[in-house]
Amino acid sequence: MSASKAEKPSTKKKTAPAAASDEIIAEAVPAAKAKKATPAKKARTAKTASGAVKADKPAKEKAAATKDDKPAKAKAAPAKKAKAEKAEPAPVKKPRTRKPKAAPAEPAEEAPIVPVAEEAPAAPVAEEIPAAPAVEEAPAEETPAPEPVIDYSTPRRSVAFIGSECYPFVKTGGLGDVMYALPRALVKQNCDVKVILPRYKCIPWEYQEKMVYRGAFDMDLCADGKSYYVGIMEYVWDGVVYDFIDNDEFFSWGKPYTDLVEDIPKFCYFAKAALAALNFLDWTPDIIHCHDWQAALVPVYLRTLFADTKLARARTILTIHNLKFQGIYSIPHIKYWSGLPDYVFNKDALTTNWVDANMFKGGLTYANAITTVSPTYAWEIQTPEYGETLDAHLRYHAGKLRGIVNGIDCETWDPWTDQRLPVNYDITNVLDRKKENKRALQEELGLEQDDGKFVLGLISRLTDQKGLDLLNAIIPQIMDGNTQLVVLGTGDKVYEDSFRYYENAYKGAVCSNIMYDETRAHHIYAGADALLVPSRFEPCGLTQLTAMRYGTVPIVRETGGLKDTVEPYNVYTNTGNGFTFDRYDAGLLLDAVNRAKTLYFTNRWCWDEMVQRDMDKDVSWERSAEQYKYLYLELT
Ligand code: ADP
Repeated sequence: MSASKAEKPSTKKKTAPAAASDEIIAEAVPAAKAKKATPAKKARTAKTASGAVKADKPAKEKAAATKDDKPAKAKAAPAKKAKAEKAEPAPVKKPRTRKPKAAPAEPAEEAPIVPVAEEAPAAPVAEEIPAAPAVEEAPAEETPAPEPVIDYSTPRRSVAFIGSECYPFVKTGGLGDVMYALPRALVKQNCDVKVILPRYKCIPWEYQEKMVYRGAFDMDLCADGKSYYVGIMEYVWDGVVYDFIDNDEFFSWGKPYTDLVEDIPKFCYFAKAALAALNFLDWTPDIIHCHDWQAALVPVYLRTLFADTKLARARTILTIHNLKFQGIYSIPHIKYWSGLPDYVFNKDALTTNWVDANMFKGGLTYANAITTVSPTYAWEIQTPEYGETLDAHLRYHAGKLRGIVNGIDCETWDPWTDQRLPVNYDITNVLDRKKENKRALQEELGLEQDDGKFVLGLISRLTDQKGLDLLNAIIPQIMDGNTQLVVLGTGDKVYEDSFRYYENAYKGAVCSNIMYDETRAHHIYAGADALLVPSRFEPCGLTQLTAMRYGTVPIVRETGGLKDTVEPYNVYTNTGNGFTFDRYDAGLLLDAVNRAKTLYFTNRWCWDEMVQRDMDKDVSWERSAEQYKYLYLELT
């Protein structure tokens, strides 16, 4: 951001007429930037951005960094020509101030390990477990993670999180992000958090080697009393204790999920082993917070087979991240593997369709509270359209159901410190630097390099849930010569193939990355102008939140968390965060995309304001963590 721009706080948007041509747009852009560079805005930016990192960078130094000369690209469009005369920010190399956080080598805080009476005596098999003293062996240059700043204004509560995935150990979707970020946010809300996860073979070795053996025991599982080994491997990181349940028989697969035939026994075992491990560790939390169907049997076990243990005083919460997957199988199969008493297989608890058992349904019945990841989804799942056959059951339990919207981890997702980006930026220089990221993205993907093009991104599992049939239907209408489409995702073959087809049909304008690639996801968030999320249903959705954090305007369907987090753009008041459509209809998606394009190409001033509004929006976990904390307090 040039000094001259920064010194024009009085330039107000009302002076910028709606641009009708490219040249007018070119004028409007710098003016918009001047407005954003007011000291007030900067102060706000400093407050909302990742405190530690920005605090490290003296204000003057930062200003200088943003004023450095950028090698003006010869191929400047009119807009760029105007800017080339000004002192442009250099393609500043990333302010790599954020160090990887070393796992603190704390001794575990729990009391000596005492197996509960019902479990077989502990049988440590130390020789089977890789020794893991690596917490002390962190590379010398790593600085210890700063202590989290804890808000002591509410009473302390202890919480056990139980779920099937958690970034960065294993992640297939949003659940993994939540299991990572929410516990860390809860630590700051004065919570003592332990996360219990399966120890999958696919967890990267860099984490496996840091795990510390905490003990092992045998546990009865099946109806015939078959006994299984339960090992506990622990890793302490940023104030959160991660306990991994170790059993080669169940978790030796490369992926967390295979098929229901394998997954039902695996997650019956996991739910029971997680509770047995808490007893074994002699740690009775105030709250046991379970996530999705894989952990749904935890409340059922707690109120049945564990009812006479100390653990029974804990209150349980079951969070629905996605109701589509429920863990349904025949009653005899689940009865055998879970070893649960007959009486839980009734129509108000586990039984569904008379002949099947539904693990999620059982958990919803026995949990003290049910949450889901947005207020709109909490309402939607009580309707037949979204309820996945559990709508009546959820209406019955509506008194204990509420929606708390997800956040994102604003340290991981911070365009100012993101080490994966070609060029870092914040709200003060996003308008320039996003273009550089756009050009880098175009170069990386073999698209025509032109920052005047409107780049649409899609980062998604390629499944029916994500509204990809709508997108597929309108791609030919979207591709008008000024638009590019970048897809990143894997999933159903039909969508993978159709996106490949379009890449071939619109060479240089469509790029389909049929893969899972974190780095590329970061590049797309930073380099795209808009991100598509046209989901059929979306419990919360994280991609639209991340997009906003990166100044990428979301185009979403008004469902679930998308409705709760993206305020539709209002052309009359120039407010809102993105473009939305309501009914599940390809024509309406096309209309939303066209409205976005119209604003982008004919009123860049207002578009740029939206970009900055989006970056300024609070998408952090802080507010959600507060709501979870209040729920914990209510329950205890
Ligand atoms: P869901 O949980 O339904 O898959 P969300 O929007 O809640 O959808 O979360 C998806 C998460 O996974 C986001 O963090 C997104 O960036 C990431 N993601 C999805 N697909 C890919 C991919 N192919 N490569 C990298 N990250 C991806």
